[in-house]
Amino acid sequence: MKLASTIALFLAAATLGIMAARAAMSPPASPTDPTGMKDINRKIEKDEKGKKDDKADPMNKAPMYSRSAYDVRPLAQTRIDELAKKLTPEDAKVILKKGTEAPGCGTLLDNKKEGTYVCKLCGLPLFGSESKFNSGTGWPSFFKPFDPDHIRYEKDSEFGMVRVEIMCTRCTAHLGHVFEDGPQPTGLRYCLNSASLDFVTKGDELPAASKPLETQSAYFAGGCFWGVEDHLQQVPGVISAVSGYMGGKTKNPTYKDVCTHTTGHAETVKVTFDPKVVSYSTLLSWFFKIHDPTQLNRQGPDVGDSYRSAIFTADAKQAEEAKKFIEAQQKSDRFKGRKIVTQVDDVAKVGQFYSAEDDHQDYHEKHGGSCPLPER
Ligand SMILES: [Zn+2]
Repeated sequence: MKLASTIALFLAAATLGIMAARAAMSPPASPTDPTGMKDINRKIEKDEKGKKDDKADPMNKAPMYSRSAYDVRPLAQTRIDELAKKLTPEDAKVILKKGTEAPGCGTLLDNKKEGTYVCKLCGLPLFGSESKFNSGTGWPSFFKPFDPDHIRYEKDSEFGMVRVEIMCTRCTAHLGHVFEDGPQPTGLRYCLNSASLDFVTKGDELPAASKPLETQSAYFAGGCFWGVEDHLQQVPGVISAVSGYMGGKTKNPTYKDVCTHTTGHAETVKVTFDPKVVSYSTLLSWFFKIHDPTQLNRQGPDVGDSYRSAIFTADAKQAEEAKKFIEAQQKSDRFKGRKIVTQVDDVAKVGQFYSAEDDHQDYHEKHGGSCPLPER
């Protein structure tokens, strides 16, 4: 099909899709929905601002890791060129030249199998079968991405209308567009070209490029978790830092429960890290830099056992390292005459980590006042 007629069909189908959806539309996604259109527009604004602030190479500003532990650093153009050699001319037209395949013709439109849709160019997982739905537009449609960090958005003002283009975060392959007429819970319709995707059936081995990094977890309590989370999140090699509660007697504690200092939980930060980039012992030394391990059941103005200093070890190797680290620190000049009171206990003994309420996640980022890491 000629390009012009393909575009005309695409626009017509997109508009029809919007009209049909408006007629029987469920309420729009809530503004707090992390995958809602407001969120996407904020992301676009932030990216555009980032490009202005860093004219040298805006790509370098992208996060290194996605929430689901994939390396999403932008690929170099030479690597993209190399990967592009395997594409058919039809696929290359869509992926590299922002083309649109004819509606109703894509190979994955009617695919109802369970599995993962990955980027045809670089292999990054982009959508899961659980979010696929029949939009009636003739293109594979999804209501949310596999991971919000795997999709890059850009305003597309071509053909006299403003649309939001979607691309692969890692290799910038063109995928399609996103519209506000999808089903709940997001209210979004990610409209895809089959040409941009490969499908991996559930149970089949994912190709190496589609696998997440092998990560490890560590748990640190050192006073108010807002600051501990903020600091540890900045350590290179840390994929995520999550505020929560650990080491207490009750299940599913809330912030209010823990504030009573009767449940025994400590405000704890769960760190997921890439052991190829940062070692557990490096994390231990950062942890001791950002809090005072000699204060018993308090940290500065915050008093009570929920603010105690603790390391909850995930396995015997971590337990051994933590013990040796504390012994060495105790002998150092920094702690001369001051006793380290950090509790070291195994996760298996103290029980699971419970994530804190959303209000307490990324607190400093949301409210400003983020503190840089101290000098090492
Ligand atoms: Zn890609």
